[in-house]
Amino acid sequence: RKDKGSSLAASGVTVAFGGFKALTDVTMTITPGAVHGLIGPNGAGKTTMVNTLTGFQAPTTGTVTLGDSNVGTLPPHEMRRAGVARTFQAGRLFPGLDVLDNLAVTGVGLGHSRSTSEAEALRLLDWMGVPHLAEQPAAGLPYTDERRVGIARALMFAPDFLLLDEPAAGMSEAEAADLASLIKRVAEELGTGVLLIEHNVGLVLSVSHHVYVLDAGQIIEEGDVDAILSSQAVRDAYLGS
Ligand code: ADP
Repeated sequence: RKDKGSSLAASGVTVAFGGFKALTDVTMTITPGAVHGLIGPNGAGKTTMVNTLTGFQAPTTGTVTLGDSNVGTLPPHEMRRAGVARTFQAGRLFPGLDVLDNLAVTGVGLGHSRSTSEAEALRLLDWMGVPHLAEQPAAGLPYTDERRVGIARALMFAPDFLLLDEPAAGMSEAEAADLASLIKRVAEELGTGVLLIEHNVGLVLSVSHHVYVLDAGQIIEEGDVDAILSSQAVRDAYLGS
């Protein structure tokens, strides 16, 4: 594994779709063991940013680096192998398999044996406090459990960095609070650098050490929670949308 001291960083990243710039000159650093929030109105470029940091979208200009390596042109599976995992807004589980098998196939895909992968999957579900999900068919899972399993699957890669795209969408406040404590534990107990994208700004502010605010493809503010809460630019962006 790569040393936990290195960061995942975007530097001066612009992503253009034809003449339209979804991101303009974005610079952002994800450090190990900390939760970073990414908020902004609809269409601000949040998903494009996650895609760019995970190999799903190459930057038009600018760089993405992992430690000292330039990784901006790596495809998603190589980014994963390099230690960067993500979740998706929609499930993407294998509906015909139970939860344990959904997780175990990830381990097998990484070259581990079936039994090692199952043991790791069970250990992870246990660590997350949901061991009872192991035997549940993926197809019938309640929405919030499906979200948890999506996170568990990403954690099967033992990533140095985990990017969460709207993990609390559709959750009640109580469920979102549970999720918040899980996200904190991922950073604090596993040492993973987390980037959390959420519409639920309260959730982001409750768990993030550092928050980035995107509006119309540009970072309009960044800093700790106090800095975000006292920012006129942030207030304007949200009121104007
Ligand atoms: P957010 O996640 O903040 O809602 P997105 O990153 O999804 O924002 O989108 C930012 C902008 O880029 C939007 O205007 C969106 O329509 C546009 N966009 C995103 N992906 C593409 C694409 N593949 N082709 C063209 N435009 C895109």
